[in-house]
Amino acid sequence: MEYSEEDLWLEIGSGGIAISPNLLWLHGPDADLDKIILWHVNKMFIEQFIRDNLNDLNSETMFELNKRITECEFNLQESWGFPRNINFHKFWERPGCSCPRLDNEDLYPSGPYYRCSDCQLHSVSISKGVKNEKSN
Ligand SMILES: [Zn+2]
Repeated sequence: MEYSEEDLWLEIGSGGIAISPNLLWLHGPDADLDKIILWHVNKMFIEQFIRDNLNDLNSETMFELNKRITECEFNLQESWGFPRNINFHKFWERPGCSCPRLDNEDLYPSGPYYRCSDCQLHSVSISKGVKNEKSN
């Protein structure tokens, strides 16, 4: 499949999705552009929903939404032709996350990463004892 310049930017509402031309060049034969766009859109809508309802969502709902974002990121890795690896998910960039950003950036991509016990997204996963490889 060949990709044109227009394939690299998809506008959605006031935002959009940029597909990395370098990644596409490197992984073009393995990448499934339709699925990449689908999973980006899924992730974007969940993140926007969290932003719009941040003060109204309870911790169980936040936990479920966070799990769905993690699934989107796993599906994105597969759509690019990468192995599923949770260490490459920058969960601290998700809306509502108050886990230590700079410390986690320093540890990227090897981890293990810091999670805050009072983070709206991750406090439930800490109390449930969710392991890193399943969710973040
Ligand atoms: Zn967090």
